[in-house]
Amino acid sequence: MVENKDAETAEVSKGLNFVEQIVADDLKAGKNGGRLNTRFPPEPNGYLHIGHAKAICMDFGVAEKFGGTCNLRFDDTNPTKEDTEYVDAIREDIHWLGFDWADREYYASDYFPQLYDLAIRMIKEGKAYVDDQTSEEIAAQKGTPTQPGTNSPYRERSVEENLDLFQRMNAGEFDEGARVLRAKIDMASSNMHFRDPIMYRIIKYPHHRTGNTWNVYPMYDFAHGQSDYFEGVTHSICTLEFVPHRPLYEYFVKELADESYCPRQIEFNRLNLTYTVMSKRKLLQLVKEKLVAGWDDPRMPTISGMRRRGYTPRAIRNFIDRIGYTKIEEAMISVSLLEHAVREDLNAISTRGMAVINPVKLVITNYPDDQNEMVEMENNPENPTSGTHTMPFSKEIYIERDDFMENPPKKFFRLAPDSEVRLKGAYIVKCTGVKKDADGNIEEIYCTYDPETRSGLPGSQRKVKGTLHWVDAKHAVDATVRLYDRLFSVENPSAETDKDFRELLNPESLIEIRGVKLEPFIAENARKGEKFQFQRIGYFTPDYDSTSENLIFNRTIALKDSWEKVKKA
Ligand code: ATP
Ligand code: MG
Repeated sequence: MVENKDAETAEVSKGLNFVEQIVADDLKAGKNGGRLNTRFPPEPNGYLHIGHAKAICMDFGVAEKFGGTCNLRFDDTNPTKEDTEYVDAIREDIHWLGFDWADREYYASDYFPQLYDLAIRMIKEGKAYVDDQTSEEIAAQKGTPTQPGTNSPYRERSVEENLDLFQRMNAGEFDEGARVLRAKIDMASSNMHFRDPIMYRIIKYPHHRTGNTWNVYPMYDFAHGQSDYFEGVTHSICTLEFVPHRPLYEYFVKELADESYCPRQIEFNRLNLTYTVMSKRKLLQLVKEKLVAGWDDPRMPTISGMRRRGYTPRAIRNFIDRIGYTKIEEAMISVSLLEHAVREDLNAISTRGMAVINPVKLVITNYPDDQNEMVEMENNPENPTSGTHTMPFSKEIYIERDDFMENPPKKFFRLAPDSEVRLKGAYIVKCTGVKKDADGNIEEIYCTYDPETRSGLPGSQRKVKGTLHWVDAKHAVDATVRLYDRLFSVENPSAETDKDFRELLNPESLIEIRGVKLEPFIAENARKGEKFQFQRIGYFTPDYDSTSENLIFNRTIALKDSWEKVKKA
């Protein structure tokens, strides 16, 4: 995006973002022997969301662009929160987005033995110590960015005692929280992360890969850089909040490395999207408390939710391309931009069909009772090779209740008493009357048709102001549709700190409508993953719950951004 091309990145070659430019320069300078290896490092403690997609497109994208490789590394250092369900979901989502890590699937837990050995070595060299204080006490001694911290009373323990205690921590002799292993660096450092950071904590919970082998687990800062190093990662790309961690990242890598090689950490701005939350903790809460139907609920900002809703990988990747990567923390990206990319892609690929969401019957009184005909419909006017399909037409059809008004205002171009409209792909009809029930609700609308106005006939050139979609009553197939709106009713739920985020959920984020009438062609082709445009209504895809007996469609998105209009009104 244009924002990339500001002063900071003025030197950037055409078409490269600032990360790609760094990589290109390193390759040109022959660094790392011309090797390029990135990694995407998710913690398997939740499903991936659209923010992760931004990181994935970067990590895999830059490797692809310059002929390098990208590892998938599960950052599984906290067994209490992690699960193989998440590992599987993460794999599926990355593949769906169109990226592949071949046989380079790694786990931080693969390196637990080496990390443990490094910790032992650092203890022996007097660079690490066991602290018996509580986390509160440790936090209280941390100081502030302008005030130095205080040394722990356990800081000067002997090497022997530290070794003994750390080994016993891992043997399971102590309770969680009783002791930690800390790096002995500098409690007065101007970088808070250097104030004797915690390297290991006790966790007594079976790990999804290593079982009960370990009772101590490395902290992120003690695991990440070294894992990159073990894998030969050349460029470790992450988000801006890791900028202050970078010196510590390099500090621990240097404990392992010879000077010639250290992975290079590069940070970019993370994605925040309006009307949703991206914190995995909050998303997990929504799932656990059943405020949504699961991680793949079509209202979730997760990749799996978007897939189920009918978003395409191309739409997501186009969106990410357009928002770009910078070094500047961006407040919020409008979800309308993502939705625009979705509409753009679905417009190009989706099959057109007719469905009536809120049906009312229309009877063509001068049409022969036993006559049926087939009218032809284009599958996709955006794609000349997509062909056509046919749709039955007879005396009784359904139209949308909203498309008829008994006492219309001036500029109502749909159906009203004595007015004419075209039934898309078929005839012009004129309204001659209605039938109402005892409460005055319209039960049926009566029309006459002009037989000369079918397409292909001379009368088809006749102009009327409105064109309606419709479905033949006799052949209509019933279905349920789920209309989705934004999950939250406020633009930035995380900013409303005085409220619980759950109070900000949009109560109308899901509306289910039964008794929707589909043309048979849609019903016959309602396979999982199929994309439709229901004419004049929006883009739809069969939900995972859909069966041939009980068709259920998700509305991926309306044809137009009605939300923006509502906001302005
Ligand atoms: P947490 O660490 O709190 O569980 P996380 O969102 O950082 O949550 P990770 O699994 O650690 O989750 O993220 C994996 C990668 O995805 C990291 O490199 C992280 O920087 C990146 N990432 C996470 N959220 C975003 C986001 N909103 N925008 C861009 N990149 C993101
Ligand atoms: Mg993280």
